[in-house]
Amino acid sequence: MGPVRTGITATEALQIILDQARPLGAETVALPDAEGRVLCETVTSSRQLPPWDNSAMDGYALRVADARAAGAVLPVLFEVPAGDPGTRALPAGGAARIFTGAPLPPGADSVVRQEDTERRDDHVEIRIVPKPGDHVRRAGEDVEVGDRVLAPGARLTPAHVGMLTSLGRGFVSVHQRPRVAILSGGDELVEPDGDVGGGRIVSSNSWSIAAICREVGALPVYLGIAPDRPEEIERRLRAGLACDAIVTSAGVSVGDRDYARGVFEKLGCRLLFWGVDIKPGYPLAFGAFEGRGPLVFGLPGNPVSALVTFEEFVRPALLQMAGHARLFRPQIQATLGESLRKSPGRMHFVRVRLAREGGRVVARSTGNQSSGVLRSLCEAQGLLIFPADARELAAGDTATVQVLDPDFLAADGPGF
Ligand code: AMP
Ligand code: MG
Repeated sequence: MGPVRTGITATEALQIILDQARPLGAETVALPDAEGRVLCETVTSSRQLPPWDNSAMDGYALRVADARAAGAVLPVLFEVPAGDPGTRALPAGGAARIFTGAPLPPGADSVVRQEDTERRDDHVEIRIVPKPGDHVRRAGEDVEVGDRVLAPGARLTPAHVGMLTSLGRGFVSVHQRPRVAILSGGDELVEPDGDVGGGRIVSSNSWSIAAICREVGALPVYLGIAPDRPEEIERRLRAGLACDAIVTSAGVSVGDRDYARGVFEKLGCRLLFWGVDIKPGYPLAFGAFEGRGPLVFGLPGNPVSALVTFEEFVRPALLQMAGHARLFRPQIQATLGESLRKSPGRMHFVRVRLAREGGRVVARSTGNQSSGVLRSLCEAQGLLIFPADARELAAGDTATVQVLDPDFLAADGPGF
């Protein structure tokens, strides 16, 4: 085993992580919980949908030949409500009152809409003569027996849930959701209800990381706050070894009290890299166990660095583990509304606001880009990628922006 890789690019780091993030196994969930999950099985239909020819309208079932001309009058011989077994055949020369979803009586070949008729006691006048098949939903027009309706990897939508229900499936096999153990570390940290006097601050990462886990459909497991002592960090991390991923924040840099990396290795985790040429978030560490064991992400402690590195590296890994094929946020090409400068070497993720102006999307910095300033991340609708080698992006240049805020893509009106 060589020395841990350091100073790698974001692309290299992501590749190393995704190579380790294997899709989790299957679990069976009840359909109401299946929405948003990724299917682990092939769903083949053992049914025809609809199961029989049925009426698409409230009206009258008849034979077209019996209604030859507008104004034809037919006797109404019986009624077929929804839920009727539909076994009674329609004699020639007659009509049956029928309702939406009711089986078409044997012998009938079409339905005339109620609006296109005039009822006269036990007869009906046909004002508009239907064509054969009009207003009839054919057996199997939706699904045939043996159809492969859904394939493994499908992300289940409400429509899929409806389909599975129609096929009589109450349960379905999906990829497990990753369980993510979250540990915060630092002698200065307290829980939200703690005393913030005397150099202490609230551990905001504990809850922002739990929130971003939930946003990607993972299950956060909070391990609390470890003081800056290796044995304390180790003790708490052991409780997370049964999870699919461990996400720590802080203590991964080069300070005397940055123990996280040493503890990861002590637990048997092989560190695959430390230090990525990005800003914010350089001191990101990543490791994995041989065989079974969680992926281990040591995020930097600064609140923005923690969330941005989660966004760029942990989020795609968790999505891949949950079986998703599409791992990345929507991206747009935006025009810079102002110039941006940096020294070359590291890729920057710039917190930007987005505006639609004259057919373009214009990106502007949300202000102070320091890695501790959470406010500018709160206001960011996207992260603009300022390439590693670039020194300047001039106003009017275009750049790729990862869109974080779904509301930016949401429309002002219904589109109709
Ligand atoms: P460290 O990586 O331990 O040097 O921490 C870097 C910075 O992040 C310091 O200012 C810490 O106080 C801050 N920090 C570390 N952990 C947290 C946390 N859980 N919540 C908020 N800030 C934190
Ligand atoms: Mg610290």
